[in-house]
Amino acid sequence: MKRADVVVCGAGIIGAAVAYGLATQGLRTLVLDGPDTAKRASRGNFGLVWVHGKGLGMRPYARWSLASADLYTDFTAELRARTGVDCGYRRTGGVWLTLGEQEFAGHKELIARLHAEAGAEGYRAELLDRAAIERVMPGIGPTVAGGSWSEDDGEVNPLALLHALHRALPAAGAERRTDCAVSAIRPVPGGGFELTVNGEQLGCERLVIAAGLGCRPLGAMLGMAVPVGPDRGQVLVTERIAPRFQVTSNLVRQTPEGSILMGVTSEDVGEDDRVDRAGIRQVARMATTAFPFLAGLRVVRSWGALRVMTPDGYPIYEQIPGHPGAFVVTAHSGITLAAAHARLLAPAIAAGKIGDELAAFSSRRFENAQTLH
Ligand SMILES: Cc1cc2nc3c(=O)[nH]c(=O)nc-3n(C[C@H](O)[C@H](O)[C@H](O)COP(=O)(O)OP(=O)(O)OC[C@H]3O[C@@H](n4cnc5c(N)ncnc54)[C@H](O)[C@@H]3O)c2cc1C
Repeated sequence: MKRADVVVCGAGIIGAAVAYGLATQGLRTLVLDGPDTAKRASRGNFGLVWVHGKGLGMRPYARWSLASADLYTDFTAELRARTGVDCGYRRTGGVWLTLGEQEFAGHKELIARLHAEAGAEGYRAELLDRAAIERVMPGIGPTVAGGSWSEDDGEVNPLALLHALHRALPAAGAERRTDCAVSAIRPVPGGGFELTVNGEQLGCERLVIAAGLGCRPLGAMLGMAVPVGPDRGQVLVTERIAPRFQVTSNLVRQTPEGSILMGVTSEDVGEDDRVDRAGIRQVARMATTAFPFLAGLRVVRSWGALRVMTPDGYPIYEQIPGHPGAFVVTAHSGITLAAAHARLLAPAIAAGKIGDELAAFSSRRFENAQTLH
């Protein structure tokens, strides 16, 4: 029977980042991924490395997102050196645009509360009025009431990042197998785990379940209820135009090649990841309200994809109760957190313990419904 030090279930952005981090820690790492038809958030996202506005009521998440963004330049340079793949990461700074006075009022309150919660530690986001937004993102429509700015935000080519991680895995000594969905997990008396994959048995000392929406059935195999569910997002892409936006935003961003990405819906439609007219209309309406000139551009592509959401939107990092050596890793901002997953979380898993600084991300928080929002 083939044995690995650690098996990572899932080679989306989260599994791949954690597996890469584990391999660079010297662990014999085997990554098992589902079929090509699997639903993959990592292939359908917006590509923001976004920090600001996050972590209300959850300071560890605000710190964790910032820590990841702070590592990103170095992390993507490392991937490039190993694989030759440029992930296109740019820390451009980000504008959070609000449409209408009511939305702006709510946003002002959010930013004020984030500043208050951060206290002396500080929170790096400032409010912008219309004139200030127009200076950094020219062409705003009359409905844009204001917004906020943080220089911590940026963007990456998420497909290039996934590709770079997949190429970096063998370079770091890890093996990745596709079309290898794990169908059974059994703890071995005395330690370790045995997995069934396409009828074959595989053994490992440690196990990381990082399979997106697949975390729920895989966690259940070890008796853990992993509360993740789908949330559909739809995105539109325009034809390429001359450089227009130097910074990124929550509603639109321009790729280095010139396309404008417009997004993103948030829909509770189960496992349906198709685009539909209502979603496309909503995305187009938000984007063209923010920037009326976009109405004159041709849309060349659209897609839908499923976010992997926990009830409060924050990650779950946890050693499965009763199964030392088995971990669950899932998050809805897997692009933003990729650097932290590879550089900070993977070493903790390699050491066999998720430390106190990440204790807030245990799923035990859901036992107290008061913490949900
Ligand atoms: C529209 C949209 C926009 C987004 N925008 C952003 C953004 O701007 N910034 C950001 O940070 N995040 C964004 N996200 C979120 C981000 O894409 C996800 O957090 C991230 O991709 C999740 O990665 P994952 O690896 O957990 O899941 P997935 O990419 O879904 O991958 C899960 C993998 O697990 C595998 N798997 C499942 N079951 C098994 C099994 N039994 N055995 C083995 N393998 C299995 C599947 O084959 C799959 O490859 C967005 C998401 C969406 C949908």
